[in-house]
Amino acid sequence: MNTQSARRSSAFLTVDLEQDGKQFGHINIPQSPNNDAWGVQQVPIAVIKNGSGPTLILTGGNHGDEYEGPVTISELARDLDPARISGRLILIPTLNNSATQAGQRVSPLDGLNLNRTFPGDPYGSITEQISFYLNDHLFPVADAYADLHSGGSSLHLLPSAIVEPALEKEHMERNIALAKAFAAPYTVVIDNLGDPRTAGAAAVRAGLTTVGTEMAGGGIVRSDALSICKRGVQNLMSHLGLVPANHQASTVVEEKMLKLPGAKGFVFAPMEGVFEPFHELGQKVSVGQEAGLVHSLVNPFEPPRVMRYETDGILYGLRMIGKVVKGNCCAVIAVEFEG
Ligand SMILES: [Zn+2]
Repeated sequence: MNTQSARRSSAFLTVDLEQDGKQFGHINIPQSPNNDAWGVQQVPIAVIKNGSGPTLILTGGNHGDEYEGPVTISELARDLDPARISGRLILIPTLNNSATQAGQRVSPLDGLNLNRTFPGDPYGSITEQISFYLNDHLFPVADAYADLHSGGSSLHLLPSAIVEPALEKEHMERNIALAKAFAAPYTVVIDNLGDPRTAGAAAVRAGLTTVGTEMAGGGIVRSDALSICKRGVQNLMSHLGLVPANHQASTVVEEKMLKLPGAKGFVFAPMEGVFEPFHELGQKVSVGQEAGLVHSLVNPFEPPRVMRYETDGILYGLRMIGKVVKGNCCAVIAVEFEG
C-alpha cells in the first residue's frame, strides 16, 4: 500500500510495525534548516503488538496545548505488558511534537494547525508531512483510531467522547458504539462544520472505526478529566477486543447523545473587549437567552454588548480567556442528537 502510493513520503519509522513485543522509536521527518543540514524532526511512537488481532492507533498532542491525551498515552506505552493484549497498539502521544513542546495549539515551525492539514502533503511543511504520514502510512494498517483532544488553552469543554460522523450507516454505528464504549460523562457528535481536514474525518475516509475526545481544557491537566481519559482508553481496548472485557464503572452522566448543531451552536464575540459569561458548563439554556456580555476596554464608558444563544440546548463549551476580539468563540451549545 505504502510503496504503491502516488505520494511517497521521505519520513521513516525507527520501529517495525510487524514485530511482536514493545518498541519505542520515532517517525523521523527529514528537515534541513540552517543549523542542521541533514537532520530530522522526531515524533515519538510506540508499537505494542502481540499476535493477531485488531490494530488501534491512539494519538494525543494533535494540538499542543491539550494534555490529558499525551499523559494517558505515554503512561499506557510505558506500563502495558504486551502479553496483556491480542493485536496491536500504535501509540503517538505527541503527534504535533513541536506544538506540544511549545505548549501551543499550532506548530511553531510552520504555524499550522495539524488538525486542519489532512490528508497532508509529503512535500509540504513539517506539520503537513506528519498528517500525511498518519494518513497514508499508518491509517491503512489500522482498524480503529482514537484522537484524544481537550479544549486547549482557549476553551473549557464538558468531558466527552466524540462521535466522528460517517456517511455509511454501518460505519456511523461502529463509531457511535466505540464512542459510547469510552463511557465519558457525555457523548457528542461533532462534525467541525463539515471540515474534511481533521484527523478524525481522514480516519473515517480510510474506513477506520473512529472516536475522538474532548477532555475539559483550559490548557491545564485536570485530575478528573485524566481519570476519565485513562479509563476510557481501557474501555476502547476492551470494546475492540484488544484486551478482555472489563467491568470498570462508567462515568456516563448524560445517557442521551448530544451533537453540535452547526453555526447556531456557537456564540461569537461581537466586538473587542472582555467576555463575561452568564452560565456554567452543563446548564440548560434557551434560544434568545442572554449568554453574556462583552465589555469594551477601549471605550469603558460605552455600555457592554449583549450576546444571546441562538438555540436551545446545554452549555457545552466556554471560553477560558477573558480577553476577546470580534469573532472569538465565547460559548458552544450542544443539542440532543436524534440519529
Ligand atoms: Zn484539540
